Amino acid sequence: IKARRPLGTGESVKVFVRVKPVLPEDTAQGRVLEGLKVHEKGEKLEVSIPAKDGKEHTFADFNSVLVNATNQQVFESVGAVLMPQLLDGLNVSLMAYGQTGSGKTYTMFGSGEAGNQTHGLLQLALHHIDKQLPVGLATGGARLAAGVFEVYNEELWSLLDAGGVERKHLAKGMADFNNHRPRLVESVDEAICLVMEALQHRTQDATQRNTTSSRSHAFVRLRLEQAFAESTLFLVDLAGSESISQASSSSQEKETIFINTSLNALERVVNSLSNRSTHVPYRDSMLTKVLEKGLDPSTARVALVATVSPFACDSAISKSTLMFAQRAK
Ligand code: ADP
Ligand code: MG
Repeated sequence: IKARRPLGTGESVKVFVRVKPVLPEDTAQGRVLEGLKVHEKGEKLEVSIPAKDGKEHTFADFNSVLVNATNQQVFESVGAVLMPQLLDGLNVSLMAYGQTGSGKTYTMFGSGEAGNQTHGLLQLALHHIDKQLPVGLATGGARLAAGVFEVYNEELWSLLDAGGVERKHLAKGMADFNNHRPRLVESVDEAICLVMEALQHRTQDATQRNTTSSRSHAFVRLRLEQAFAESTLFLVDLAGSESISQASSSSQEKETIFINTSLNALERVVNSLSNRSTHVPYRDSMLTKVLEKGLDPSTARVALVATVSPFACDSAISKSTLMFAQRAK
């Protein structure tokens, strides 16, 4: 029996809800805001969605509900507790869960339009780490190494390793993953450039609301070596959760089945973590296997950002995202 570091009294999984703002293209396409509502309850915000019987389904008790927040504000909420823990030597996972188009990639990796870039949690976390290190990366006070991966149809791909940016099939799954050599970087800017370039090699897909990457899970694994500790930060951009609620209509699709497999497995893992059960079913999917080190409560802390669309047409999917988020707490 392995000795486990006690969890302490803190929550095992922190859960944030981020409501996507109304963008000009939403107005242009006539999307209406009659669905999701955010209201104050005491000091906290709660979210409600109209139910079929005319009542409302309310979701509360999140660590925070972020409305009209910038990525910087999201980072401040999400990272406040977790970044110091990472720097103290714990592993940390930051994950975005939600339907396609709800802002997962924007949250994790920012928006890339040249000349007008918005940093995501990746860039903000890296700059934060660099600033907080007693001796910065550039002066060799710590070492940083990055790997980028994609899980597509339960198969694993490396998009960045020691050799640089290249899409490689990790055909032996976990054996290859455990042998994966990350790319050592000398600065935060180098890390960001390489990771962003690697992410361009994600599986492309054309869906109605978004043209890239809604069918795969992508994650960045950043290893931080300090004199006294080694810790890993996982930044996870999950596949669109709409597959789950639409499973009956498109269950023939191989991709949908695999997304369901992994998101359902992730849900079972996260629920076991929040219930503190002794058995956590990491082995049920490729996604949960590769993230185990970032989820295991004896060595890691987790924050989940559930991204939701505020539009009436998305109510059903927003509701299922909020149910996932609620159960994760
Ligand atoms: P997802 O990854 O969940 O499919 P995206 O992150 O790609 O969704 O977001 C869809 C679109 O909405 C993108 O063009 C993105 O830049 C934009 N977007 C998402 N969230 C925000 C936000 N908070 N502020 C401004 N634009 C956003
Ligand atoms: Mg995306």
